[in-house]
Amino acid sequence: MSAVIIDGKAVAAAARERVAADVARILEGGQPAPSLAVVLCNDNPASAIYVRNKGRAAERAGIGFTLHTPSLSSSTLDLVDLVHSLDADNGVDAIVVQLPLPPQVDAAAVGDAIAPGKDADGFHPLNFGRLAEGRAGTVVPGTPLGCMELLRAYDVPVRGSRAVVIGRSVIVGRPLAALLTNADATVTVCHSKTRDLTAVCREADILVAAMGRPGSVGAAFVKPGACVIDVGITSVDGGVAGDVDRAAVEPVAGWLTPVPGGVGPMTIAMLLRNTVSLAQAQRGAPAAA
Ligand code: NAD
Repeated sequence: MSAVIIDGKAVAAAARERVAADVARILEGGQPAPSLAVVLCNDNPASAIYVRNKGRAAERAGIGFTLHTPSLSSSTLDLVDLVHSLDADNGVDAIVVQLPLPPQVDAAAVGDAIAPGKDADGFHPLNFGRLAEGRAGTVVPGTPLGCMELLRAYDVPVRGSRAVVIGRSVIVGRPLAALLTNADATVTVCHSKTRDLTAVCREADILVAAMGRPGSVGAAFVKPGACVIDVGITSVDGGVAGDVDRAAVEPVAGWLTPVPGGVGPMTIAMLLRNTVSLAQAQRGAPAAA
């Protein structure tokens, strides 16, 4: 047996097309295009690439995009003031503060300043709380939302399944565990202090690796036929590597997301979807499906 390779590029392209269709309907209804504002306050080359890709994808989908690049010497108050001005701007539907922020800045304070109704990344504690409560219509971080979309696109059974998420970060592991719980999976969250990680993972029908430790999930972690979602992205030798040892796991798993081309393309597609949903919610229309 060899795993079905989940084509994240194709699923993301279809999701972006649905976003573009939603934007077209908004314009036909005489409303302005949804708009996304990104705050970039670092000189990290990877962040510059992410932000450029977000801008291009937004523009291709017909979403307005503005980039704010405050000085690297900005204080917490400077950035909170900038975010508050975006919160108050009726021409801005959705806001992203690109991480990391400079060391002198309290990143949590800046994130908390984003109005929850404009929180395109879904990192605001109020949105996380709503997600944890399983409330409908909550804005959810793009990467975990993208993982769920891949499971749905490939009809991977979630209800009643055993799911193991390796990684408990606020941007991936914790929200994904909440989404899987809300979808009726029985979820275990593992982390760097988990004992006997291999044995815990081997119980999983759905195994998600979000550690940032390239190639560390081998065949021994995988129950035959399980769905393995590889969120990890680490730069290696001029390319990128996931957390899963693909050559070892592919013959054992039932489904597998490749790196690159698996979860990665979903993140920006889901950010665009969030932007449109936030615009619709602010304008009183029902959120996008
Ligand atoms: P993080 O560093 O915030 O969290 C890593 C988590 O992995 C922690 O909870 C830690 O406890 C756990 N961990 C580390 N070593 C471990 C070990 N040996 N055993 C068990 N658990 C261990 O990272 P993050 O921001 O959640 O990102 C995780 C990975 O996902 C990174 O490679 C990152 O680049 C990638 N990522 C990809 C996307 C995407 O769009 N595909 C988006 C976000 C993050």
